[in-house]
Amino acid sequence: MSGLNIYSGISELITLKGAAKKQARQPVEKDLGLVKNASLVTYKGSVIWTGPSAKLTKAILAPYGGIKNSNEIKLSSGTVMPSFIESHTHLVFAGERKNEFELRNQGVSYGEIAKAGGGILSTVKATRKASQKDLKSAAQKRVNEFVSQGVTTLEIKSGYALNLKDELKMLEVAKSLKGPHIVKTFLGAHALPSNFKTYDAYIDFLLQKVLPKVAQSQLAERVDIFIDEGYFQKSHGEKLFKAAQSFGLGLTMHADQMKLTKAYDLAIKYNAHSVDHLVQIKKMDIKKLAQSSLTCNLLPGADFYLKMPYPPARALIDAGARVSLATDFNPGSCPTQDLSFIGVLARLEMKMSLAEVITAYTLGAAFALNLQNQKGSLTTGKDADFILIDGSYKDLFYQVGHHPVVGSWLKNKKLIK
Ligand SMILES: [Zn+2]
Repeated sequence: MSGLNIYSGISELITLKGAAKKQARQPVEKDLGLVKNASLVTYKGSVIWTGPSAKLTKAILAPYGGIKNSNEIKLSSGTVMPSFIESHTHLVFAGERKNEFELRNQGVSYGEIAKAGGGILSTVKATRKASQKDLKSAAQKRVNEFVSQGVTTLEIKSGYALNLKDELKMLEVAKSLKGPHIVKTFLGAHALPSNFKTYDAYIDFLLQKVLPKVAQSQLAERVDIFIDEGYFQKSHGEKLFKAAQSFGLGLTMHADQMKLTKAYDLAIKYNAHSVDHLVQIKKMDIKKLAQSSLTCNLLPGADFYLKMPYPPARALIDAGARVSLATDFNPGSCPTQDLSFIGVLARLEMKMSLAEVITAYTLGAAFALNLQNQKGSLTTGKDADFILIDGSYKDLFYQVGHHPVVGSWLKNKKLIK
């Protein structure tokens, strides 16, 4: 094997070249970079050339050993595009919350369920109890479900253990999962465990006992915190972000979901990768977010399940903000893993165009994970992470539950055969 691969027979190739130039801000249809009758050339896991097959010359291949050293892979006609990046999940957990779903449908609020010992804390109880092996086998099935939809990069958070031993256990499980490229996020500041009386005391415990171990063992690339009225406050976020930065960890946050606390200010101040949810933001907030380097990671599946308003995607994009989309998959507030559903919600309820949704779930999500230099578009030098779709890109995010992905590659390695 020479490492030089020529993928040919592609009816439609979507590169996202234009969107990459615009850093995923305000993408329009032509930014998808559609090429008909195309080839994709990769070398040792990276993209080296894309374009119409008729324009692929010997000179392009020469520096890599030339055509005689290449492997030609004829794809059945279809669309090749950057693979999906799922940038916000809580997929390592034990137990289930089906009863809670029923209660919520009977009119009991998320807050009331949490106060009665349900919600996040019931998942914490089950996750602490579960063995690493059991957690892993449940999580691997969920990972496979994402992979089958064309996801090759997947973010996974801890945050259902809220103690030292089991938070590390969750991150170990995330690290051991097979298939996609996995980004691990430490979310110890997800909820207040019942053995702590105050959020202040718990944050101090996380900073003194847990975060140093997470950093030392390199079990997470980033930290996250859930800031909202009645949960963690901005002052806790400030402490956590300062400490995390001193360990060289990346930052993200759940913010402005239930009430507007303007926690996103902190994400801007500390140069976080993304700020997630943003349901409650208003005109002035949108302006500030649009002018920042943050990626606004919108999670309409959670808003759907919680019967909440949707974040103002249209206004954010029109103001120039970079937007990404993710499932927020978790057993409580968003028990769906279905990307097609998230995209349909974004189009129907948030007035996003198809080009905006595709960009949000590829390049936008790469920015949300600080992987924009490696992933999210099929442009020269980036990882050869791509999917083959049976049909056109217009078949995406239209029919809920329809996933026309027939092949996927991560750095040139096949994930779906
Ligand atoms: Zn979340």
